[in-house]
Amino acid sequence: MSVLMAIAMSIVLFSSYFSYPPEIRGLNYWAFSLLMLVGGAGLFASSRLGVPDLVVLLTANSAFVCGVGLTLIGTQKFYGLKPSWWLFSLLWLLCLAGITYWHVWEPSFSARVAVFSYLVSVYYFYLTIIVWRHGEPHFSTRFLYVLLGIQSVVVFTRGTLAMLFGSELVNIMASGPFQSLYLALAQFMILLLAVSFNTVSTRRLQGLLERRSTLDPLTQVLNRRGFADVYAKELGLMRRQFTVMTVLSIDLDYFKKINDTHGHIIGDRVLVEVAALIGKALRVSDHIARFGGEEFVVLLPETGLDRALQIAERILKAVRASGAHGLPPYTVSIGVACQSSPDEKLDGLLLRADQALYRAKSGGRDRIEIAAPLVTSAVAPVMPLVAPVMTPASAVASNG
Ligand code: GH3
Ligand code: MG
Ligand code: MG
Repeated sequence: MSVLMAIAMSIVLFSSYFSYPPEIRGLNYWAFSLLMLVGGAGLFASSRLGVPDLVVLLTANSAFVCGVGLTLIGTQKFYGLKPSWWLFSLLWLLCLAGITYWHVWEPSFSARVAVFSYLVSVYYFYLTIIVWRHGEPHFSTRFLYVLLGIQSVVVFTRGTLAMLFGSELVNIMASGPFQSLYLALAQFMILLLAVSFNTVSTRRLQGLLERRSTLDPLTQVLNRRGFADVYAKELGLMRRQFTVMTVLSIDLDYFKKINDTHGHIIGDRVLVEVAALIGKALRVSDHIARFGGEEFVVLLPETGLDRALQIAERILKAVRASGAHGLPPYTVSIGVACQSSPDEKLDGLLLRADQALYRAKSGGRDRIEIAAPLVTSAVAPVMPLVAPVMTPASAVASNG
């Protein structure tokens, strides 16, 4: 029954391999490895059908060693590591050589079992370390490395028992209650391994889809949804820590002209570049999002107007220096709105930043404008949401 279920699990893994995004790698190797492990168990049983012992030993042990080897290759691919094909080949050759030597030249059952067990336990031990070090902190990862750890101890113990006692107890080609129990347990472990591969890959898919749904596919910065999520988190922090935060609404100047003159592909490359330039001008705690078209929004947590203006200047300067890598030069305009009350809604904050941005556009572009602070009092006099811009001329005029 376990064998049939492991085969079914391997079909599930194959199907996941064909339907999951290509970023999730290694599933096909895991599926093959399960088939080989199950096949190895079947080949051992074929000795009862009169197949010569050496043939059974070589094919069944090869299937097991290569099966566990493919588990390693699949796991390395799954975690984005370089596959150790050299280890795969080395352990397989050692297995073949050891089994042939201790079957033909110096027949020793316990030596054969020890060689096979120690080689396989090397794999399981290495696998345990890989999953433990590279797996994400989640139940599915812990389940997998605990399982692999148990496998490595069980297989190592079997090798040591064979060395110490050379007993027929560890001969799975013979029949007896211990052999049946060992085979049943081994097959159950293969089944658990299959379940574990499926849970870690499903978890990987879930994380990938969650990330994808919050990222802009072109520039790989947050999209509106992702921005709303981080904003909600930062707002919670702001509420607890009595701080302020600031948003920058950034729009490329005359972007339509870039598209019209150089084509959409260059336009797209400009969008990717400007996202990278803005990102470089930010601190690690800041967030950048693309709100569609050529409009970006930056969230600066725990940042007041003065610091936000310095960052906006940095962005303006970095973008002015654009025009490398075969792309045309371009500029951006920035509207800055500071949120000092945690009760202000995101829509209102963005509206204030956008209104400042429109003023930056109408004021000549390639510049920064600041939004008026939010009016919170219910009895506050009716006044425009946007502060009047103090140009040098109007400042002089108001001073009389
Ligand atoms: P302004 O300085 O007033 O912002 O002028 P503008 O030309 O940048 O703004 P406008 O809104 O007139 O044009 C925006 C252009 O952005 C029009 C549209 O074709 C282009 N656009 C929107 N999304 C994309 C995109 O994903 N890729 C490319 N290449 N162009 C896009
Ligand atoms: Mg624009
Ligand atoms: Mg625009």
